[in-house]
Amino acid sequence: MQANETTGSTQHFGDSPAARPAERPLGRAIKRGMLNRCPACGSGRLFKSFVKPVENCAACGEDYTPQRADDLPPYLVITIVGHVVLGGYMATDLVWPLTTWQHLAIWAPITVILSLLLLQPIKGGAIGLQWALKMHGFGDKPEETEAETTAAYGDRTA
Ligand SMILES: [Zn+2]
Repeated sequence: MQANETTGSTQHFGDSPAARPAERPLGRAIKRGMLNRCPACGSGRLFKSFVKPVENCAACGEDYTPQRADDLPPYLVITIVGHVVLGGYMATDLVWPLTTWQHLAIWAPITVILSLLLLQPIKGGAIGLQWALKMHGFGDKPEETEAETTAAYGDRTA
C-alpha cells in the first residue's frame, strides 16, 4: 500500500484563489450592480444614496471611485421610457380616444416615476459593466492621464 494514499490531498496547481486570475463575468457584474450590490462580491451595497455610488464596498473594499457612468444611464433611461410611454400613448389612443389633457395626466406622471425607478438600477448596471470590462481605473493599470493621451495621439485640440 502506498504511504501517501491516506493524506487525501487533492491539491492541484492553480487551485488556490491567488493562483487564479480574478474573474469578472460581465452578466453577473451587471446584474449585481442593477440590484444595488457590489459587482465584485455581491454582498456590499453599491449606492450610499439615490444614484450616489459608495467610494468603497463595505464588504470587500473594492474601490468604486474610478466609475465613469456619466450620461450612459440617463441616455438608456430616456430610450427605454421613451419607447414605453410613446408606445403606450399611441396604443391607448387607438382604442380609447382621450383629450390631450387626459393623456398628459396619464403619461406625464408615468414618465417621471418610471425614470426615477429605472435610473439607479441602470446606473448600477453601467458601473458593473465598467468594472467587469476593467474600464477606466477598474483594471490593474491606473487610468491614462491627459498628458499620456496627448503624447500617444498628438494634441487634437490644436
Ligand atoms: Zn464588494
